[in-house]
Parts: sequence; C-alpha cells; structure tokens
Amino acid sequence: MKKEQFLWLFLFFLIYSCSQETISEQENKKICNGLCFNTDFESGSIGKISKLSQDVWSLELKNDNDNSSLPDSYRTWWNVKVEYIPSSGVKLRFTKLGFPYFFVPVFSINGKDWKHFPESAVKQIDPTTIEVSLSGEQSSLWIARTFPYTTKDYTEYRNSITTNPNVKISSLGNSPFKNTSIELLTITNANQNPDKKTIWIHARTHAAEVGSSYVLEGLINTILSDGSLGTDLRQKYIFKIVPMHNPDGIILGNYRTNSASINLESQWLFDRTILHPIYLQDTAPVENKFLNKNAMSTVIEDEVHPVVLALNLHSSNSDINTPAFFFPHFGPGNNYDSQQQNLWNKQINFIQTVASFYDGRIEAPPADGGNGFLNTYFPETWFWYNKKDVVNAITLETTYSKAGYDYWVTPKEWKQLGVALAHAINNSNFNKPNMMKDSEDRSMFKLPSTMTKEQLQKMEINH
Ligand SMILES: [Zn+2]
Repeated sequence: MKKEQFLWLFLFFLIYSCSQETISEQENKKICNGLCFNTDFESGSIGKISKLSQDVWSLELKNDNDNSSLPDSYRTWWNVKVEYIPSSGVKLRFTKLGFPYFFVPVFSINGKDWKHFPESAVKQIDPTTIEVSLSGEQSSLWIARTFPYTTKDYTEYRNSITTNPNVKISSLGNSPFKNTSIELLTITNANQNPDKKTIWIHARTHAAEVGSSYVLEGLINTILSDGSLGTDLRQKYIFKIVPMHNPDGIILGNYRTNSASINLESQWLFDRTILHPIYLQDTAPVENKFLNKNAMSTVIEDEVHPVVLALNLHSSNSDINTPAFFFPHFGPGNNYDSQQQNLWNKQINFIQTVASFYDGRIEAPPADGGNGFLNTYFPETWFWYNKKDVVNAITLETTYSKAGYDYWVTPKEWKQLGVALAHAINNSNFNKPNMMKDSEDRSMFKLPSTMTKEQLQKMEINH
C-alpha cells in the first residue's frame, strides 16, 4: 500500500470510529428493547436494561459517572422516560438499589408535574429491587426515584426572585465539568442594623438529594414574604445561601458525587495543625474551594455580622416512617468539655425549635451525638476547628418516604419544613444560651426516637 493510500485509509478509519462513538453515546441515552428508555435530559439516569419476559423489564440503577468503584450505597437515583408502553401494561423492575427500604417512586406525563404511583402499583421483590406495574393508560411516562429538581428548576426559581431588592446574586465560580455557575444568594434588607447576624446555608452537595432544594424554596419564600416573619428575618439576619453546590453531579444524573466521582461532603480538606484553618488546602475539590475561598472564609471572619448558624442540607434514604432529622454533635455531661456541651445544647435547642414549628415531625435526637464528625472533613468539622461552639453548624436530612405523615411526602411538605426553619431561626436567640429550653425535654417530638447514637454516627459518616 502506498503511503498516501494508507493515510487516506487511516483518516477514513478515524472519522468512522469517531462517528461510531457519537452514535453509541446517543444510543446510550435512548435504548429500545421492546420499549424505549430515554435519559437524554438533565438528571436523566438509568443503567443496564434487559427484557426478562413478554411484559417485564429489568432496569439497573447506574453508578455515578458509570464508576463501578463507588460504594453500592451511592446508587439511589434514576430518572428515565419510558416510551411505547402497550395498553396492556408492563412491569418494570428497578434493581441494584443501594438501600433496602420499601418506597414508592414518582411519575410524570409531561416531564414537569410529578406524583407518586399508587402504593398498590409497587412491590418490593428483594432488598435491592422494586417492581412498578404500569397500567398502560399512558403510552409514555417519566419515572424517577423521587421528585426531580434540576439546575433548570433552580434557575427558574431564582429568576422569580432576581428583581427582589432584598436579594443579591453572585457567582462563586463555574463548575469544573459543565461550566455552570455556582451561585450565592445574599438575602437581607437594606438597613444597616449593627446587630445583624449571618446565617450560612448550602445544599445539593450530594447531587440528587432534591428534598433540600424544596426546603430552600420554602425558607427563601418565607424570608422574602411581606408579613412580620419575613420582615423580622430580613432585619435580624443576613442569609448567605448556596442552593447548588454540585451542579455537575446534578446535570449528569449522579446521586452523590461530582463529575470526578468525588464525594464533596467529606472533602473540606484543611490543615488541622493550624489554629484557625480558614482556607482549604489545594488538594480540596474545586467546588469546595469556591465556596470556602469566595464566601465561607469571609463569612467566618466577619466580626460585625458574625455567623451563628450554618445549615448543611441533605436528604437520606430511610425507613418509611423516619421523619427529617439532624446530626447533632457531642453530648451532655462530663464526657465533653464545656464548649462541646455548649454546642450540643445549642444544637438540641435548635432541633427542638424546628420540631415545634413542624408539628413535631423531626426525629428526636439521641441522648448523645458523639464526636465522629471530628475524624473526617465535613463542613461542620471546619466550622468547629474555626469557631468551636460559636457557630451552630449542623446537617439537616429530609427523608423521601412518609416522614411522619400518613402519606408519601411531596415537595409541599419539604417546603413546609423550610417555613418551619424560618420560624425556628426567627425564634432562636443565638446570643443568649440562658434563654435555652431544657435539652432533655422531648415533648415537642411527635414520634418516639428510633435512632441510637451509634446508628446516627454511622449514618453521618456515610451521609
Ligand atoms: Zn447527603
């Protein structure tokens, strides 16, 4: 073969193989195997699909970024459009679930409005598989683990508050893979109230933990509302809110990690040997460095408007009836020093106050929270090393199932939790610990406590 012919052949091969790759990428987003399964939209995700019999399909959950080295427990999320459903109906088995709890997924006819399947349409086949029966009434349906909340949903919501004079929007940097702005909302009134305190909140570190986005909408709507609650909150506080910490993970349809399969939650890497480790180390993930360098470092050093509360919003797989819960740290009594006891008391008081505004539908905290968080690099660990008991830094987990109600919870109940948070923040006197309630008092919790310190710590380490 002449050299020139060889080059042409090589070029042809190169173009051919590239075009094949493009086709297979597109095909991966839409697979037809009797039915068609489409994930070609934001937060779309499904793994391997096989037809088991005439009317039963198996749909495996996908690992984040198809990375099989990630723990099984990370597999929670899917969102898939199913097309060409016959009028006789079909059964879909969602399998390789990373958690053993029975639950009811959601569906949508238009990809926008979602609701739960009836409980009778869902059965648990084994601890990692549920089967959903589709009646065939609709020939195409979107089906997801729970109510999706994408970066587009956030943008739509954010655009609805942009013109509010109490809201300032800035960018902390662009996400490393999809180049999406990681935004900071600053909400307060224009008054230069010298007593204003700062509240730090961030959400969606774990990509598909959607409950927290609805909590934030409920909270932000309340802060911006016309009544006395909104007016008081804007007068007393400066809210610094990062609604979407991990937009790459959200866009890619991941459950927990970013585009590099990093669990950002435990990577707030700082130097423990220095007294006030304000800045994260270079080895920390870029998303964490954006938040830290461009917002949290300023917030934590602000002596005029000191930060008093830092909320880290998450969502958790759980038993059907587990309500939303917090991870409080340390505990009462002599196992802890006075600062540790003081943080514990502040956290229990805040949890009690939130519960009192949420009809008691918060998990009663254990008798002791432990200090497991000190062994890793959560944002709460960073706050503790910098401010000890001065900042109540705590994680709130919404749950996806019934959460203390007698029905499957929807965005409405999550938004109501945001309203309860607003009330609790307004009713907390962060400066006067002597105003605190008795931290042993459990009367505001509707359900008996079901989690021990050990269970809670184990969940926290893996949350
Ligand atoms: Zn989480």
